[in-house]
Amino acid sequence: MKYLIINSGSSSIKYKLFDMDSFALLASGLIEKIGEKNSAIKNHKQGFETMESLLNKSGVLKSFDMLSAIGHRVVHGGEKFKNPILIDDEVIKVIKELIPLAPLHNPANLEGIKSAMEHAKDIPNIAVFDTAFHQTLPDYAYLYALPFEMYEKHQIRRYGFHGTSHSFVAKKTAEYIKKPLEALNLITLHLGNGASVAAIKNGKSIDTSMGMTPLEGLIMGTRSGDIDGGVIFYLARNLGFSVDEIDTLLNKNSGLKGICKNNDLREIMNLAQNSDKLAKLAIEMFVYRIKKYIGSYLAILGKVDAIVFTGGIGENAAKIREKICIGLENIGIILDSEKNSKPLKDINKLNKKGKIKLFAVRTNEELEIAVQMKKLLVGN
Ligand code: ADP
Repeated sequence: MKYLIINSGSSSIKYKLFDMDSFALLASGLIEKIGEKNSAIKNHKQGFETMESLLNKSGVLKSFDMLSAIGHRVVHGGEKFKNPILIDDEVIKVIKELIPLAPLHNPANLEGIKSAMEHAKDIPNIAVFDTAFHQTLPDYAYLYALPFEMYEKHQIRRYGFHGTSHSFVAKKTAEYIKKPLEALNLITLHLGNGASVAAIKNGKSIDTSMGMTPLEGLIMGTRSGDIDGGVIFYLARNLGFSVDEIDTLLNKNSGLKGICKNNDLREIMNLAQNSDKLAKLAIEMFVYRIKKYIGSYLAILGKVDAIVFTGGIGENAAKIREKICIGLENIGIILDSEKNSKPLKDINKLNKKGKIKLFAVRTNEELEIAVQMKKLLVGN
């Protein structure tokens, strides 16, 4: 039984092929520059044809007819989708209706879905949503304190993202600790170019830092994270910014990049080592915001069994993990610097002492999608 997992962007398709009996990864790849000038691949449909011939050439899959299912990462599922779902016309209609909530992502995800359905007609297609894991947030956590009809009529609320990653690392941690996930309280930190944190109580997400869109919360590569909404009025009224310019400023030119002109943390750390003041400041700000979220999630969870680091930064940047933990010893967060410096296997424990366990976990969103699909399609 083989599942192909697709993450379709506006000009790219990332894919992974799994054998679902052993959960082994058989192939992975990236089709890039779809529809770009001078690119041989004009659209997503051609992207699928390229992918099929690559898989065929490498000998792992003769044709898409040999697949048992195709899984699609879909960024925004709104309140409609709390679980993976078999895609039909009605599901496509709802994903389309959700485009205003995710104007960049959902259309690209839909391109992938439509191409897959056209290209491999008889294979079931499943959508797995980035927002689904956070559908367990209570109303007092997901509502913004706006007039209530903004939620009722316009669906303005916190949804949260990176759900498959938070879910994957939470399960992995539970497996490692040898306790049922339902018995654990966790803070999971997905720190990549995009970054978010989740408070998980008895295995369920009860709060998360990203909001109606992925802009809210932690400082990210190019996104500001939390800011005073008043800044937006100021930009418009006093500096003459248009709505689109504000969107670009906050989503593409802020965060680490806004402070030190670089959004790659590895490069920023090198610059900081060479005494680049703004690179140092960007790191301080990044770490400080994470500490604030850890503090507030400790308060809402009451008891925390483990804090889990994942994503490109969380998995690899030992120095950043160390900076985050420094000063938190009195609340039971005691990182062991020797353990912290070891290269990451699938999961590394990072502490010897302290009442809160610390882990780095290699996330695998595609595998999580495949596992959730298998549960839907064959029941385990
Ligand atoms: P995305 O959100 O785009 O999937 P990733 O999860 O791949 O991003 O994370 C990208 C970030 O991880 C970048 O800022 C990159 O510099 C950082 N990163 C990757 N490896 C390391 C490392 N060894 N040390 C520090 N930062 C790292």
